[in-house]
Amino acid sequence: GQEGILRRQSARESAARTYARALPIVPVRARGMTIEGADGRRYLDCLSGAGTLALGHNHPVVLEAIRQVLDSGAPLHVLDLATPVKDDFTSELFRTLPPGLAERARIQFCGPAGTDAVEAALKLVRAATGRDSMLAFTGAYHGMTAGALEVSGAAPSVRVTRLPYPQDYRCPFGLGGAGGAELSARWTENLLDDTKSGVPAPAGMILEPVQGEGGVLPAPDGWLRRMREITAARDIPLIVDEVQTGVGRTGAFWAVEHSGIVPDVMVLSKAIGGSLPLAVVVYRDDLDLWPPGAHAGTFRGNQLAMAAGAATLAYVREHGLAERAATLGARMLAQLRTLAVDHPCVGEVRGRGLMIGVELVDARCDRGLPEGTAEAEIEHGSRVEGIDGLPPVARPRPPAPELAAAVQRECLRRGLIVELGGRHSSVVRLLPPLTITDEQATAVLDRLADALAAVAR
Ligand code: PMP
Repeated sequence: GQEGILRRQSARESAARTYARALPIVPVRARGMTIEGADGRRYLDCLSGAGTLALGHNHPVVLEAIRQVLDSGAPLHVLDLATPVKDDFTSELFRTLPPGLAERARIQFCGPAGTDAVEAALKLVRAATGRDSMLAFTGAYHGMTAGALEVSGAAPSVRVTRLPYPQDYRCPFGLGGAGGAELSARWTENLLDDTKSGVPAPAGMILEPVQGEGGVLPAPDGWLRRMREITAARDIPLIVDEVQTGVGRTGAFWAVEHSGIVPDVMVLSKAIGGSLPLAVVVYRDDLDLWPPGAHAGTFRGNQLAMAAGAATLAYVREHGLAERAATLGARMLAQLRTLAVDHPCVGEVRGRGLMIGVELVDARCDRGLPEGTAEAEIEHGSRVEGIDGLPPVARPRPPAPELAAAVQRECLRRGLIVELGGRHSSVVRLLPPLTITDEQATAVLDRLADALAAVAR
């Protein structure tokens, strides 16, 4: 039974286990957005395998693609040899690539996780430029292997220059909006052009168009274009990590399409494997300067994942699921913002497409004063003066990780699975499948509203 499985696994599994701690359930069946536990309880899954399941669990087209490979007698394991399955996947993927890259793309199959593709991308630009140092951003998450960790936000490294990722809420410069993004861009230009800045000539810049694990922080389109200009003008390859944002998640097939930038390198995983492990790097052909064998790995040829992935890419494209994510995501954001008005513990609701974050804050400092008024904010130091004539911005209240964890627990009690993220683990994250129906979206918001009401008591 469920209790026995949970008890045995928690006794035997690593202390580093993560999701299993916050979500003490035992999934035995799943379809679409619904997971059924061993105890018969059903859950709406807004975690989607950490943003992997673009079509939800066990989508019929994915199952059928896998079955076809199994029934065909094709080999399941062939290292990186060419196969019809790989040919199909590559063609389908190349069909989706942003113009400017699509016409001259090369693909390196990596395996099996996003972090492997990040390693390959870093190795590629280092080989192509002959340089070593990388530019990366505060709050970034690129994976857990050594090289990927170095460019992720929490890890110090002498090989990495860390730049401020722009964000409205908790803007590092106390500015928010276009002002904060502009300062981030100027900071970058200054570091690169000041020969005494101590910043070595970089092999590349790596960024997420929306930071996911970092707490759902969409980079402004204008800032992405500035970063593209700054790197292009200095011959610095730009690596865009679309592991989490890809395949329609943000309301465009690839998140770079919102800003129109053309990356030199794209790192892809999660949804491209249609729920099975698959990771690739796609890059401009003139960067293809590494020698044969420069990036190897036994599991670079997962045939089932390629078949499931090709079916997923085709389905998202043919059924306009990116557009669906854009419209439904905008509606859910608006509804969540309305809901937040009644909940001072919600500091901000943000996101792009079906990548949504609700940041929980400690609202206690507002007690006794009319909420949301300028007087209340100034009285409690939650408002700072503008800089150089810029208008004053609200200073966010402290992040509330315990509250976010409580919301996650209350959601689970109500049959809703959500993830937590952000630098302070204070952001409740919604990553529903792109196939979520209007009714399911309403149910998600109702359950989340109930959970917020429960913790606010
Ligand atoms: N990059 C990004 C943007 C991610 O969100 C993740 C995973 N959350 C990774 C890389 C690493 O992928 P994986 O966990 O498959 O190694």
